[in-house]
Amino acid sequence: MRVSIRRQLITLFMPFVFGLWIATAVVSFWLVSSFAGDSFDRDLISSADSIVGRLRVQNGKVTLDLPPAALAILKHNESDKFYYNVISLDGKRLIGDIDLPSPHAPLQADAPRVKTAKLGEKEIRIAKIRVGLKYDDGEDVIVQVAETTNVRKRFQEKMLLSIALPQLLVILLGLLAVWYGITKILTPLRLLQSQIASRSQSDLSAVHESDVAEEIYPLVQEINKLLARLREELKAHQRFIANAAHQLRTPLAGLKTYSSIGCDMTETKDLQHIVKELDTGIDRASRMVSQLLALARTDASEQGVNAKTQVDLNFIVSDVTAELVEQAVLKDLELVYEQSQEPAFIYGEQTGLRHMVTNLVENALMYTPHGGKVKVQVKNNGGVVLRVSDTGGGIPEEERVKIFERFYRVDGTAGSGSGLGLSIVKEVANFHSAKIAVEELPTGPGTLFIVEFPKNNNSKNTVN
Ligand code: ADP
Repeated sequence: MRVSIRRQLITLFMPFVFGLWIATAVVSFWLVSSFAGDSFDRDLISSADSIVGRLRVQNGKVTLDLPPAALAILKHNESDKFYYNVISLDGKRLIGDIDLPSPHAPLQADAPRVKTAKLGEKEIRIAKIRVGLKYDDGEDVIVQVAETTNVRKRFQEKMLLSIALPQLLVILLGLLAVWYGITKILTPLRLLQSQIASRSQSDLSAVHESDVAEEIYPLVQEINKLLARLREELKAHQRFIANAAHQLRTPLAGLKTYSSIGCDMTETKDLQHIVKELDTGIDRASRMVSQLLALARTDASEQGVNAKTQVDLNFIVSDVTAELVEQAVLKDLELVYEQSQEPAFIYGEQTGLRHMVTNLVENALMYTPHGGKVKVQVKNNGGVVLRVSDTGGGIPEEERVKIFERFYRVDGTAGSGSGLGLSIVKEVANFHSAKIAVEELPTGPGTLFIVEFPKNNNSKNTVN
């Protein structure tokens, strides 16, 4: 399982925070309980004092003048049981009808002592005062006052809740704040992630470094260094293809000249056939080389090497069709060009667009039999659209996605194709954020290619 920073922080914090909570709750509870206990004990001692004040010696006997009304005042609450007695120093009960636990250590006169003891099953708190009183059997007596601890315990429970609950609430709010804080802290990482995710595979430009947090900055720097190395690598690769293609062009052109001459000169029929094959092969190699060059150029455009300018697609299309008229005439094809009424401005890369139009029209001419028709249209109804249609054999529906792959040719396709033409078209379309569609000609057998440029692609200010 992947490590989560958020989960790790929370699991690190939780035991610490909860430990702290329990420790502070225990300390606070102990402090408050001991303060409250002192107050309860003072009440008990004052009850014992009241009893001391009502002790008399009559005829040598110790008596207590404690009417029921006075006894009611001595009791502090209805929930606890209240007990009292007066005993001699040797523990003999003189007054009261219950025996309470006698003091273990001798008491000092007028120095009250309070302690916890057991009376049967019940826990009691007992206060004892030694009083100097002369009577027949001795000189001093001990007054003992006790009460059960129900109210004290209930008070302690309430105290515990009133201390621990708010603290728990504070801790939970603290954890929530930590959670929110982590989410906030991780936002730059998410932004970085969406920045990288939204790129096309060919976009190797540097990631924005300006808004990046200090801790993530080294990571972004390393990503950018890697991207720069990849850019260099790719450029070198493209340069190599372009150079190789360029180098191949010259010897191929020479060979083409000789094979053309050879076709006319040979008298032997077999030799003529061989030279014809050679001529076709050279045509095919030449086409492949120029398509490779075009592809290297298109890749370079994607890396931002070739600049975009504002171009009217009408000019490019009229130029290309003019160049290809001869090819159409040789094949007895009707080549029609319809330009848009409004200028069809695109903020684009001229050479790439030219390759796109050339490849589409050349394909239409190549795959349309003699006597057919090829129509090239530029439309501008808010957005610029290029339509290239032909009355050829058409492209089977299941092949229409595959034909844009590099080096893909439909099985059984004749001619000196390289399988690269439409992949160049697709890359140029992607570079201009244009949508490309292949349809069957509505009016009969044939193919219709539609390239739709985005509506906001006609101005420099609205692109990039
Ligand atoms: P090629 O160099 O073979 O023309 P492309 O990438 O330009 O390579 O085209 C790929 C394949 O798509 C071609 O081999 C051909 O089978 C098919 N194709 C392209 N354009 C047309 C068209 N206008 N009519 C019929 N088939 C076409």
